[in-house]
Amino acid sequence: MPADKQPKPIPGSVATIRILGIPVRLHFTFVLMLVYLLFLGMSQQQSRVSTAFYIVGLFASVLLHELAHTVVARHYGIGTIEIVMFPIGGISRPERPPKPREDLWIALAGPLTNLLLAAALLAWVATHGGLVPFRQMQEPTDATLAQWIAVGNLALGLFNLVPAVPMDGGRILRSLLARRKPEEEAARIAARAGQFLAVLFGLVGLLWSNFILVFVALFVYLGASQESSAVRGRILTAGFPVSAAMLTDFRVLRHGDTIRDAGNLLLATSQHDFPVMHGDSVVGLLTRRRLVRAMMRDGAEAYVAGAMDREFPRFSPETSLQDVLSKVSAPGSCALVMDADDQLLGMVTSENVSEFLLLRQAKMVQPE
Ligand code: ZN
Repeated sequence: MPADKQPKPIPGSVATIRILGIPVRLHFTFVLMLVYLLFLGMSQQQSRVSTAFYIVGLFASVLLHELAHTVVARHYGIGTIEIVMFPIGGISRPERPPKPREDLWIALAGPLTNLLLAAALLAWVATHGGLVPFRQMQEPTDATLAQWIAVGNLALGLFNLVPAVPMDGGRILRSLLARRKPEEEAARIAARAGQFLAVLFGLVGLLWSNFILVFVALFVYLGASQESSAVRGRILTAGFPVSAAMLTDFRVLRHGDTIRDAGNLLLATSQHDFPVMHGDSVVGLLTRRRLVRAMMRDGAEAYVAGAMDREFPRFSPETSLQDVLSKVSAPGSCALVMDADDQLLGMVTSENVSEFLLLRQAKMVQPE
C-alpha cells in the first residue's frame, strides 16, 4: 500500500537532472535568470564562450553549495527529496527535519563550500599573476572570468551567512540559540530576524529603486514566514500520534453511490473528502477535486467508484503527527487513518491539522 507516497516536487520546475542520485530541478524563475544573465553578458565585453563559462561557473557554485548540504545531511542519515534551483540560490529538501545539532553542520557546509571555492579560485588567479584590483573589476572580461566566479562565490557564501532564516546563517543562529533556549523560541527569533531583514531589504530596495533587492526581500520574507509556521507545527505536534488529531465524525460514500449522491453530501456537510466504502472496507477516497472533475467529465449519474482515488494516502493510528504534518500541509490534502486490519478509524486533512495546532497553542490539548 502506498503508505508513504513520495512527497510531491515543488511546482514550477521545468527540467530535472540527477546528481548523486538526487533530482536537481530547475525552477522556471531560475531559467529566466539564466536568460537574463546571458543577455546581460552579451551586451558587455565578454565573448559568448566566456559568458557561457561564467554562467556555468555560477550555476556549479550554487549546485556545489546545495550538494554540500546534502552530503552532510546524508552523514546524519537524512536523505534529500530534491534540490530546487531558484534565482537567489538553491533549496535542498531533507526527508526529515534535522535536529538543531545536526542542522548547524548541514547549514554551515553550504556557505563554507562557497568561501573555500572563492579562496581557491583567488589563490589560483593570484599565482597565475592575473589578479585584477577589485576597483577595476566593473566590467567582466575574458581575463577576469575566474576572478568573477570567485567574487560570485564570495557573495554567495557571505549572503548565506546572514544570520536570518531562511538563509543558512539563520539556521546556524537557530541551532546555536537552541543550545540555551527552548527550540521553539530559538526558531521564533531566527524567523523574526529573517522577516525584519526582509523588510529592511525591501525598504532599501525601494529607496534605491533596486528592484532585484525588493525581489530578494520578498523571497526572504516568504521563506521566513514559511519556516516559522513549519517550525511551529513541528513543535506543537511533537509527541502526538496522528490519532490525536484525526477527524472521527464524518460521512462516507458507498461503492454504488453516484456523483449526484456525492454532490449532495458535499453540500449538506462541511466535508470536502469522502472515504468510499464497500461493505466494511475502504476502497477509495473521493476528494473534492476529483468529485468536481467527475461532475464535469462524467455527469451526475456516473458512479463514484470511477472517480475515486484508489491509491489514497493512509497512515496507521500510531504514526507520529510530525511525520504526517508535512504530507497533509498543502491545502485540500487528505489522508485516511486505518488500523492493521484495514478498518477505517479516521481522516486527517490540512484543515483539521491546523485546528489541532490552534488547540495546542491554546494549551487545550496536552501530550500524555
Ligand atoms: Zn544553503
